[in-house]
Amino acid sequence: MRFQEQPADILARLQALRDADAPTHGGRVLSYVYDSGLAELDELAATAIRMVQPVNGLDPTTFTSVATMEREVLQFARQVLHGDEDVVGSVTSGGTESCLLAVKTARDDWRAAHPAGGMPRLLAPSTAHAAFQKAAHYFGLELDLVPVGADGTCDASAIIERLGEDVALVVVSAPSYPFAALDPVAEVASASSARGIACHVDACIGGFVLPWLEGVSPWDFRVPGVTSLSADLHKFGYAPKGASVLLQRGRDRQRAQYFATTRWPGYPVVNPTMLGSKSAGALAASWAITRVLGEDGYAELAAACDRATVALRALISGIEGLRVVGDPVGPLFAVATDESVPGARRVDPHHWADRVRGEGFLLQLQPAFTQADGSRLPSTTHFTITPVTETVMAELSAALVSAADAVRGVPPVSVADVLAAVPDGAAAMLQGPDATSLDSETAAALLAGFGLGRGADDSAALPERMAPILALVEALPAPVTERLLIELLARLVEPRG
Ligand SMILES: *Cc1c(COP(=O)(O)O)cnc(C)c1O
Repeated sequence: MRFQEQPADILARLQALRDADAPTHGGRVLSYVYDSGLAELDELAATAIRMVQPVNGLDPTTFTSVATMEREVLQFARQVLHGDEDVVGSVTSGGTESCLLAVKTARDDWRAAHPAGGMPRLLAPSTAHAAFQKAAHYFGLELDLVPVGADGTCDASAIIERLGEDVALVVVSAPSYPFAALDPVAEVASASSARGIACHVDACIGGFVLPWLEGVSPWDFRVPGVTSLSADLHKFGYAPKGASVLLQRGRDRQRAQYFATTRWPGYPVVNPTMLGSKSAGALAASWAITRVLGEDGYAELAAACDRATVALRALISGIEGLRVVGDPVGPLFAVATDESVPGARRVDPHHWADRVRGEGFLLQLQPAFTQADGSRLPSTTHFTITPVTETVMAELSAALVSAADAVRGVPPVSVADVLAAVPDGAAAMLQGPDATSLDSETAAALLAGFGLGRGADDSAALPERMAPILALVEALPAPVTERLLIELLARLVEPRG
């Protein structure tokens, strides 16, 4: 065949595109990526992915390697998460899919037990991952989010008092993503199981690191009443993206996770997960990585994360105007303004993150958030620490200190200033009742007013400074921001020309 483009040219272009990405290795991005620092792991994963490249994970009876690898990954996960032989599971495509399937299972189980019908409720602290909002939205559950304390910690009684006949699932996190708080798993699971209500532990981020840290109160299948648990292989499991495990206690419960139909003229469909035909690549990589590391390997990597976390928390606690929020568990934490010092000595976490970005480290900005009871959780900057963080400690520490010095006393971005920058009338429109029914032209025009969206070149989609964007997220009604962000992302991939 005569190719339209030469493979070498295509790959050269891909390399150029990749060079423009945020760096995935070397500890410069403190969210999204989980770099073990072991080049052999990446090599092993790449080879494993290549070996299963043509396989269809849809059918483990035809491609029997898929069943064997999945069984062995689940065996490893069940062992480190202290499940007994009653605990079974699936490898999914990621944390979101694990959470979605936990909710789907609980919903179907609840429906079977409540033939009179009605709308089941999903009960969780407001720090539960957004994936549960997505699950409630997709699967038709009422979302009941319980406010947490200003330090991100969840009071067990606040959850327990909301348990009821209509609750299909209560979710706790180990730990939560925004503040790394370990939710009161034992208290909640004990109360929910006494009422026959399912309890999911979202250990997507903690599942493959907390087992090797000291002094963490029990949060896994050792806790009676925990009915399911999610743990991401593509986070602290160090696998490439596309792999997570969902473990469920009780075979009969777990079968409600499946979808099966023979009611069409094609092949019988029996799917434990959301997809049909699927790659076995991330599974094969996860299988290889869990086997090569074993418990001892994970323990060593967890220790490296922990050393860097302890050191960074100490450093940040010593920076005037900043504080670590609450009592984080695991290699992650959030940093907020220390409001115990005078305004002139305070450091806004978003200005700080923007400044740190200028020094070559990418931190994740988290907006302030108003909970259902009106209480407000602070604006923060999120850190996820990985084994490679230790290798950049000196440079990172210097950047964190000098950035704080540079922005100390600078007040947070005022929304009035941001809105002043948009075209006449737009500000009023954004706050008005019609804002949620924005059409795509208007939404794009508003984005352009904020200096967002696609410019002539691709890099123009996001601005240099994120603090003004976060100020908007905090100030505009959520449905408006959500609509604008949809427009931003949708336009990013619109075909051109
Ligand atoms: C990352 C995460 C998720 C979602 O996982 P994805 O892999 O991004 O889909 C869910 N819960 C928690 C606590 C997480 O940290």
